[in-house]
Amino acid sequence: MQISDRLCTLTTDPAAGWEILYRSRDMMAAGTPVTQLTIGEHDIRTDPAILDEMARSAAAGHTGYAAVPGTDALRAAIAQRVQRQTGVPTEAENILVTPGGQAALFAAHMATTNPGETTLFIDPYYATYPGAIRGAGSVPVAVQARAENAFQPCVRDLETPSQTAAALLINTPNNPTGVVYTAETLAAIGDLCQRRDLWLISDEVYDGQIWDGVHVSPRSLPGMMDRTLVVGSMSKSFAMTGSRLGWLVGPAKVIDTLINFATHTTYGVPGYIQDAAHWALTQGPELEHRICAPFARRREATLRMIAGQNVVRAVPAQGAMYVMLDIRATGLSGRDFADRLLHRHHIAVMPGESFGTAAAGHVRVAMTVEDEAYKAALQTLLPFAADVANGI
Ligand code: PLP
Repeated sequence: MQISDRLCTLTTDPAAGWEILYRSRDMMAAGTPVTQLTIGEHDIRTDPAILDEMARSAAAGHTGYAAVPGTDALRAAIAQRVQRQTGVPTEAENILVTPGGQAALFAAHMATTNPGETTLFIDPYYATYPGAIRGAGSVPVAVQARAENAFQPCVRDLETPSQTAAALLINTPNNPTGVVYTAETLAAIGDLCQRRDLWLISDEVYDGQIWDGVHVSPRSLPGMMDRTLVVGSMSKSFAMTGSRLGWLVGPAKVIDTLINFATHTTYGVPGYIQDAAHWALTQGPELEHRICAPFARRREATLRMIAGQNVVRAVPAQGAMYVMLDIRATGLSGRDFADRLLHRHHIAVMPGESFGTAAAGHVRVAMTVEDEAYKAALQTLLPFAADVANGI
């Protein structure tokens, strides 16, 4: 029996870019300790108070089919959060609760493009972007954000490809670079979307992790509310990656159409998880700040250590749980650097080449191990880079 072309061509090579991660896992499985700085997952687990709420809700019987678009209470709480953070009037009818931000991304592509239409996205990019676009039947076209531009997308580079595109997908704060797009970048993107009549899909799953600068949601820009779909999630801000709870924010008409899509695909998110997310979102900022605080500390430590040497440079680390390091002075590609670092020092980082072509000669460090182990890893990585640069 044949498997559909749609699925067989979803990704060109499913392992592409993940070799270091897989190799490091094999080493760990064979008993070799590895400092794992590859994937974007916290070293802490979901807060016990959130789990208590999940258990309380489940024990109280919220284990049946839950409201497909999300419970009224959760949709209202997300709408309030969005309105508070962005100033854009937002109601429950503008929110679709989804099984994680990933499902919100897929729903957004389904809503904005017809089969064969083009969605632009920015390279370097989160690994699932091209596959999710293809899965919706659309054609992914990457446009580079360049290292010499601190990985801010340049609208001049989007002008030509946008002439034949239906949608543009952006991500700020950015994975993998940690860069937060400036107000100027976003204003130019908003202007482009209006001139070219593009949908804007704005992945803001790291909006709770801003260390420097200001996060502007492009939905708040003049003329953008009706053409922007925003992806949000509990995964990163509340260390709830395994709970699979995200959302899409958009015009009520789009959300309404997507409720029908959710009815025929996911059938919603478990009620006890929605209740726990509602509880977490209504606790005020302290809980979220506490969960995100380790990344702020580790980022500070990274910048201090980077300042003490001159081989490795840090891309402006303004948000999210990653620091992108420019290792071009070593003469190695990101892939060879990551490979040798794993082999010699048992430290696993992601090659910049895993995220497209624009971050070649870089490695992404996920700040996702406890402080002392994290600092020890950097104290090894930086002299290692200096040795390579000096041909040692
Ligand atoms: N978007 C970006 C940029 C991500 O880095 C991730 C996860 O790493 C996601 C979306 C998906 O997050 P989730 O489905 O866990 O909400």
